[in-house]
Amino acid sequence: MNTLNKKKALFVDRDGVIVIEDQIDTYERIIYIPHMFEALRTIIKKGDWELVMVSNQDGVGTPSFPMEDYQMVADRIFSTLEGEGIVFDDVNVDFSLPEDNCPGRKPGTAMLTRYMNGDYDMSKSFMVGDRLTDMQLAKNLGCRGFWLTEESETPEEYKDVIALRTDNWLDIAAFLTDDTALAPRKAVLSRKTKETDIEISLSLDGTGRGTAHSCLGFFDHMLDQVIRHSRCDLTINTDGDLEVDEHHTIEDTALLLGECYLKALGDKRGIERYGFEIVAMDEVAATVAIDFSGRPELVWDVEFNRDYVGDVPTELFKHFFRSFSSTARCNLYISATKGGDTHHTAEAIFKGFARAIRKAVKRIPGATELPSTKGVL
Ligand SMILES: [Mg+2]
Repeated sequence: MNTLNKKKALFVDRDGVIVIEDQIDTYERIIYIPHMFEALRTIIKKGDWELVMVSNQDGVGTPSFPMEDYQMVADRIFSTLEGEGIVFDDVNVDFSLPEDNCPGRKPGTAMLTRYMNGDYDMSKSFMVGDRLTDMQLAKNLGCRGFWLTEESETPEEYKDVIALRTDNWLDIAAFLTDDTALAPRKAVLSRKTKETDIEISLSLDGTGRGTAHSCLGFFDHMLDQVIRHSRCDLTINTDGDLEVDEHHTIEDTALLLGECYLKALGDKRGIERYGFEIVAMDEVAATVAIDFSGRPELVWDVEFNRDYVGDVPTELFKHFFRSFSSTARCNLYISATKGGDTHHTAEAIFKGFARAIRKAVKRIPGATELPSTKGVL
């Protein structure tokens, strides 16, 4: 059989890839991996891989994890996948214990010999797994692997077999369908001066995960609003010269954050570009409008009743947004009703900022054009 007629397989692990790794013996414990449905649907729609599940499930069949509980949950997982148009062509589950040295247990290939008899083009087949044993299985099968992990380095001995190491299913869909528009938009940047040392990692296509550490409690509280309400994955670590004052810490964090947005947005094709939000918080309403126009501008119509909120001087909020707009190259319009509580005013503004960003960076499904009549942003 020539390679043109050969079939292709996408081997997919279950725990850590379809659902989070756990003893999943009740419906409540089923938690799906972010973007898995979207990625697999895209792969199925645009490619012709046979979907093959390969899973080790040691511990099933013991008193603490009866087979009936496993089966009930597995049935639910498959029916949910099917409801989303994702149907596995073949399911291979090994229930043996590691010490049994069963040849069917990953990375053994005994359950998969039919894929190794020449009918399948292994150079175009892949294994998706969250463990290095999955990548070893890919090696043993003669295919390549997608290592779905938060690890930041690939061990030397797996460099040839791992086609892609990523923490996001959409990267795998982009790789397999050759559609870079699917790839998560990310930026990881650092900035070190005599005044501050900052690292920021940003993914625009996240779920609002991440943390902020600046040693300024109220500033962290505001950055947390940005993380949760923008639904970007964002980790911010700032070590600033607070022995001087708060200025450099807040200014430089904003500068680098803006730079991250500019970088992650890339050529800005297919995005909404504009975002706006009015956020009510008790007696305050804040209005934020943003345009990732390529030009910096801040319009600020906000008054605070106090000089400080927590450990942050309120005058620095304006400076934060001006700094952000200068490096993100966006127009920002921010206003808030006057006379309200200072904490509420600041928080409503940051929430509005985050939610305006969420709208502006959103990709319009299928759109590839630049949202500008000028042809450049
Ligand atoms: Mg796994």
